[in-house]
Amino acid sequence: MQGKYFLPRLTGRCLGCGNKLPDAFLDLGEMPLANSYVAPESKDKEEILYRLAVAYCPACYLVQITHRVAPEQLFSSYSYFSSFSNSFLKHAEAMAESLTKKFVLDSNSLIAEIGSNDGYLLNFFRERGIPILGIEPAKNIARVANESGIPTVDVFFGPDSVAQIIKARGQADIIIGNNVLAHVPLINDFLLSVNKYLKPTGSAVFEFPYLKDLLDHAEFDTIYHEHVFYYSVSAVKILAERAKLQLYDVHHQDIHGGSLRVFLQKERQHEVSSNIRKMLLKEEQYGIMDKDLYRNFGEKVEKLKTKLEGLLLELKKAGKTIAAYGAAAKGNTLLNYIGIDKNMIDFVVDRSPYKQGLLLPGTRIPILHQDELLKRMPDYTLVLAWNFAEEILAQQDEYRKRGGKFIIPIPEIQVI
Ligand SMILES: [Zn+2]
Repeated sequence: MQGKYFLPRLTGRCLGCGNKLPDAFLDLGEMPLANSYVAPESKDKEEILYRLAVAYCPACYLVQITHRVAPEQLFSSYSYFSSFSNSFLKHAEAMAESLTKKFVLDSNSLIAEIGSNDGYLLNFFRERGIPILGIEPAKNIARVANESGIPTVDVFFGPDSVAQIIKARGQADIIIGNNVLAHVPLINDFLLSVNKYLKPTGSAVFEFPYLKDLLDHAEFDTIYHEHVFYYSVSAVKILAERAKLQLYDVHHQDIHGGSLRVFLQKERQHEVSSNIRKMLLKEEQYGIMDKDLYRNFGEKVEKLKTKLEGLLLELKKAGKTIAAYGAAAKGNTLLNYIGIDKNMIDFVVDRSPYKQGLLLPGTRIPILHQDELLKRMPDYTLVLAWNFAEEILAQQDEYRKRGGKFIIPIPEIQVI
């Protein structure tokens, strides 16, 4: 790939427990940051490339990337506005409903969300009359949230900001972090700050993609520099205890190809659910603490790469046109790892107006409005946002009726 190679920080140590990390079990090579979309006027500029590889710590079971990029480089102008996916919004509303009931929240409660994005989730609490506070480091997104009436502070949550946040609004009853736990390299400091920010009776609720689903379904494209950690229940329990938080419940969620919702408490307000013991046992039987599991996964991903590359080359040779659907970060890992570029895929469509008109990082494939799919009718469309495949197939029914075919790459390559 073209570009300037930049060596991010390689500590060689586990970010959880500090033990020496073994070699990576999967090396995806050098690639640009998955969310660094390129403006058309910068199309000839070199991109900065970073190594992307993952290793497993046998001491504390934390799966993590081996080369870290500073959070300031990753999140200062993040372009992922979550509100644009219907199933995502439905999931958020169900979460607000479920937490409001579970914790009997009312106008005296304070719900804080770390990584609150444009406020899509907090808004459902606001509608229920519950006081909210968003914490969102991407200044452009925090501004949008504030303008739409979601009070949001634009800081990185952690030891440097927690005192200031408490001073403004007091401690929180519930702290939510959806897809945030995986993003924070200094995870021990982060969880200690969560402990500090919680009222003694409070709970923290975190959601993140589940390592077991990633391994089961070969979801290697959810690996990118923003995602420092890939969690199991076994690993979260140890991390939480280090920050004097108790893991007391866990639920599996279908979103994002399989996620966990975990509940942590500061004091023993809630009984520890039997779900915890069950999940830990399941993970042990599955081999989550066994390094062979990770080696096998690495081999499986390499095979998937060869197969998908072969299919696309074959279609191209037969004179077929190929587009892609969904300019999501995960798509960038997949395309850059496989080495696909604009010579192979003509364009990608995406529903987010913030991405339309830009180019994908690394591959430089142009991002167009979703209606272009029907206008241009490519023979095949690779679904990069495969976790929303059902929704996309329903919306693009007409494309298939007219003879277009979708390629779903993960967990198994399917042509529909
Ligand atoms: Zn460790």
